[in-house]
Amino acid sequence: MKQLTAHRVLVVTDKFFADSGLAAQVGARIGGAAVEIFADVKPDPALELVAQGLRRMQDLQPEVVIALGGGSAIDCAKAMVYFYEPEVLFVAIPTTSGTGSEVTSFSILTHDGAKHPLIDEKLLPQIAILDASLLEKLPKKLIADAGMDVLTHALEAVCAKDCTPFATALATEAFARVYAQLNASYQGSTQVRSDIHIAATMAGLAFDNAGLGVCHALAHALGGAFHTPHGRLNAILLPTVIEFNAEVCAAPYRQIAARCGLLGATDTLTVKALIRALIQLRRQLEMPRSLQQAGIAPDALKAQLHKLAETASQDPCLSGNPRPVTVSQLEQLIWAVAT
Ligand SMILES: [Zn+2]
Repeated sequence: MKQLTAHRVLVVTDKFFADSGLAAQVGARIGGAAVEIFADVKPDPALELVAQGLRRMQDLQPEVVIALGGGSAIDCAKAMVYFYEPEVLFVAIPTTSGTGSEVTSFSILTHDGAKHPLIDEKLLPQIAILDASLLEKLPKKLIADAGMDVLTHALEAVCAKDCTPFATALATEAFARVYAQLNASYQGSTQVRSDIHIAATMAGLAFDNAGLGVCHALAHALGGAFHTPHGRLNAILLPTVIEFNAEVCAAPYRQIAARCGLLGATDTLTVKALIRALIQLRRQLEMPRSLQQAGIAPDALKAQLHKLAETASQDPCLSGNPRPVTVSQLEQLIWAVAT
């Protein structure tokens, strides 16, 4: 970034990176610029937060916006830049290895208890910087949640209706790298984190090209209502979703399973091996296996079940799913992981 120059730079981040001084250091890498920091980003960024950030941009009139943080900081900054005129140079620096938001045209915003994916090519950052030195002190839970999100991006992308050979290659490679190394990263190995970071971005490129599916539609609905971390919801839902889609996804599941040494003698056995491997990994990462274990009481879930299914049915990610899904099937999929 040393070659870049600007008069005014806005760094969009959260309190942690503002207090640690990292946000200021990153902003100072732009030659000769006055740096301001918007440090109000919270998980599951709401439309109000974007409006607040946008007002800050209008006051400052930056030529460069840098998003520093996990998916929430990047998604918030994306929406701010999207609604701002004139065009600015937009740089994304992810500090978790999960959403792939630094290379996608998706921004997930929360409004009225629901997550709404905004999808537009204008949301794509011009520059993504992958710096593994930012990952050395990642909290364990973030490693697990974000890693399972990457595996879900890869699996949904290879099955998605609009999948291409390019997306398949990226997603298969991303899945294999994360599947092989996520537990080591969780147990404290920092050497594998650079590789997982790259894989997260590869999976982002894959799903930006191919689309996602029912797992993300359900995770968005549940995350908007209960604020459970996104990757954790995917980890809970994924085995059930694989089973649901298996009859139309035999070939892509076989390809991913073969790359990870999980190939069975038949397609049915391969799907079982893939599911078993993901459940075992989830256990190694000490993650919940049901929504109840993740803190969502079955009564609260039941009361909202139909509304959640309706919300998921409206999610743009659902249209990528290879198998059509009715509202009542969405209810069944949620209820299958309730307890
Ligand atoms: Zn995701």
